Amino acid sequence: MNTASPATNPGVEREVVRTVRGRPTSDGAGVRLTRVIGQGDLDMLDPFLMLDEFRSDSSSDYIGGFPEHPHRGFETVTYMLAGRMRHGDNQGNSGLLTAGSVQWMTAGRGILHSEMPEQEDGLMWGFQLWVNLPAKDKMTAPRYQDIAPAQVPEVVLGDASVRVIAGRFGDVDGPISGIATQPLYLDVRLAKGAQLEIPVSAGHNAFAYVYEGQAHLGSNASKNLLRGDLAVLSDGESLRVQAPDSGARLILVAGKPLNEPVAKYGPFVMNTPQQIVQAVEDFRAGRF
Ligand code: FE
Repeated sequence: MNTASPATNPGVEREVVRTVRGRPTSDGAGVRLTRVIGQGDLDMLDPFLMLDEFRSDSSSDYIGGFPEHPHRGFETVTYMLAGRMRHGDNQGNSGLLTAGSVQWMTAGRGILHSEMPEQEDGLMWGFQLWVNLPAKDKMTAPRYQDIAPAQVPEVVLGDASVRVIAGRFGDVDGPISGIATQPLYLDVRLAKGAQLEIPVSAGHNAFAYVYEGQAHLGSNASKNLLRGDLAVLSDGESLRVQAPDSGARLILVAGKPLNEPVAKYGPFVMNTPQQIVQAVEDFRAGRF
């Protein structure tokens, strides 16, 4: 079956349950960003703990970067749209994230890393998503999947194109593998007038975030999303996206909910308060 054009048999379609707009904040050493998941209006969307969009062509908004800091118990996913970010950690790993690249970092039991801009001017634009790990994997060994731009396949269907970062679209699998929550992460571009029916695994939580233009989502296209709108989606087997008014670019992300207790303290995300205390002790004792 060619799932790239499943509109003839879409099954149960997902609809927009609610829309959320991010809040401006800063993190790291004064990096200005918009927090869309992980703020008062949308604390989390299991298994997604946080979504930040950073986007500025003013270097004072990003030049401080994210100097060395710890993570334990979850995964950080950086997807760059523009600019260059240098990554390095305390285990000798380093890499350069460029426009179109992805880094899926499974922090597991712990890493200390930095994420610093490798440019002094120009546009820096992208997303960081935090994905929770199941209890059984929280203390796993750290793992990186660094994906260069050319390794992200792009499916073109008429006036629409989809970069497949994780999961499947059409008969194309994204390069990210072995993630417990079986994520779908698509970067969707629609020219004006284009529409797509995108399969999304039933039972997985899903959201779409419009980062350019505007898009209509859902079976009757009733929900018009503007740039900066995140749509929390109902359950179903597919999502219809259309761009009748202008071109649109959006990310569509889905994952299997963990349904486990979440104990969160800054860069540590565990299941119990005791595990958080342990994480802080381990960090202070230099055990990361
Ligand atoms: Fe980090």
